[in-house]
Amino acid sequence: MQKWRTLHGAAFTVRVAADKRTPLMDTLSNHKAPSLLGQVAIITGASRGIGAAVARSLARLGALAVLCGRSTASLESVAKTIAEAGGKAEVIPCDVTRIESVEAAAKRIESLGRVDILVNNAGIGGFDGPLHQLSPGAWDQILDTNLRGVYYFIRAFAPLMIRARSGHIINISSITGKNPLPNGAAYAASKWGLNGLTYSVAEELRGHNIRVSVICPGSTNTDLSPHAGKDPAKMLQPEDVAHAVEMLVTQAPRSFVSEIILRPTQKP
Ligand code: NDP
Repeated sequence: MQKWRTLHGAAFTVRVAADKRTPLMDTLSNHKAPSLLGQVAIITGASRGIGAAVARSLARLGALAVLCGRSTASLESVAKTIAEAGGKAEVIPCDVTRIESVEAAAKRIESLGRVDILVNNAGIGGFDGPLHQLSPGAWDQILDTNLRGVYYFIRAFAPLMIRARSGHIINISSITGKNPLPNGAAYAASKWGLNGLTYSVAEELRGHNIRVSVICPGSTNTDLSPHAGKDPAKMLQPEDVAHAVEMLVTQAPRSFVSEIILRPTQKP
């Protein structure tokens, strides 16, 4: 019987006759999933969709997942699934658009003693029509959630990472941060802005050994994404984006993958 591990750390066994074992098999069977044990990972917008998948996957790698979002009940149900799978999660409700809410959350999170990973994922869509028909209130809500909220979280947690001389900040942007998006101009502007913010802050924090990167996913099968005319099975799934986050937080210490553009293999 040979013990193996999947990349995600799950153990499985394969019956291999002693005379059929190869050195490669021995190497693979010693492979261990990279561990985030003891690390603290904050995920904004963790109550559903991509954020919930990222939280589950970082918890599976051993991190304490700190789940932020506005709906306490939904965050608690994600925390419950993490705990049932043997992981650790803490629910800290927070509205990323409100500075006082972010500061209150930061106070609670700081009591955990460290922050290793910050995934700025909370976001809202806005794909209903041309910019000249968008209300100023809707403009504010999109920009405040998708861009200002990221600034608030970096403002709250970068100092902690600077003191620790380590950290990962991962911003979930969009492929629409690279392309025009008719009938979604404010959303596109928020994501183009988020890309610019990321590239700039990456340079500000690089010298402190903090990696700031951005993931630009294409259509992902969540509540946010317009599904009309698309095959949900071909769309990216939230777990695919979570996998990209896993790759970033487990990369070799000297390397810095600063941007990931993630497309579905087949056009949905
Ligand atoms: P969902 O609508 O499924 O989830 C959005 C999450 O953001 C929810 O947990 C929501 O929680 C949270 N959120 C929204 N507003 C706030 C706020 N003011 N404060 C705190 N949390 C908030 O969307 P996705 O999972 O699809 O989106 C996640 C990110 O991925 C977004 O930034 C989105 O722009 C990006 N993205 C999505 C793509 C897609 O096709 N789905 C493609 C590319 C990028 P609650 O409402 O409880 O607060």
